[in-house]
Parts: sequence; structure tokens; C-alpha cells
Amino acid sequence: MTSDQTSNQGTRPGIEPHTPQRPIWLCRTCAVAWPCLGARTLLTVDFVADPTGLAVYLAAQLQDAIVDLAALNPNPGPDPAALHARFLAWVRPRVAITRTRLDGDLPPPPPA
Ligand SMILES: [Zn+2]
Repeated sequence: MTSDQTSNQGTRPGIEPHTPQRPIWLCRTCAVAWPCLGARTLLTVDFVADPTGLAVYLAAQLQDAIVDLAALNPNPGPDPAALHARFLAWVRPRVAITRTRLDGDLPPPPPA
């Protein structure tokens, strides 16, 4: 997927969708903070060839989440560092892991 394509926000036929419920930003399936593990997995596969596009997409989602969560709880408001970790910090390592798995180039298991 390239940055000019629209993401399906963690949906795939035959797999339960992991989409955010706004304005609380919990996954509609898992009921945990979005992007949940399922959303991270699906989004990473969707954007594996375009990690910059994934970061841009998630940055836009982060902006929307800040506005929504600040409106729900203006004092003290959402923690920017926590939201950065939740929305963006996982992208690069997760894309690297997914690329390795999709290439079938997994490292050998550790010796027993
Ligand atoms: Zn989920």
C-alpha cells in the first residue's frame, strides 16, 4: 500500500476488524487502546512496502485522537508521550519484523 491509498484501518475479509471507536479510541473488537495488537498487525501488513505511509496515516490518527481525548478529559488532557508511544513508536520495529516474516528470512532458532 502506498501513502496515496486509503487504509482499511485494520480490516480484512474474514478477520474481525480492529477499528477505533471514537471518541474514546478503543478497538471495537478488543476494547483496548487503539491501535491494538490486531490493528498493528493488520496495518503493518497493509503498509509493509510503505512504512512512511503508515507513519503518516498513524500521525493523522494521532492528531484526531488528541483532539477527541482532550475534549473528553481536558484537565489534565492526554499525555503526549504516551500517545506517541501508542500510535507511532512501534511502527519501525514492527515493520522490520513483518518484512522479515514475509520474506521467510527468519533467523535460526537459538540453540537448545
Ligand atoms: Zn483490536
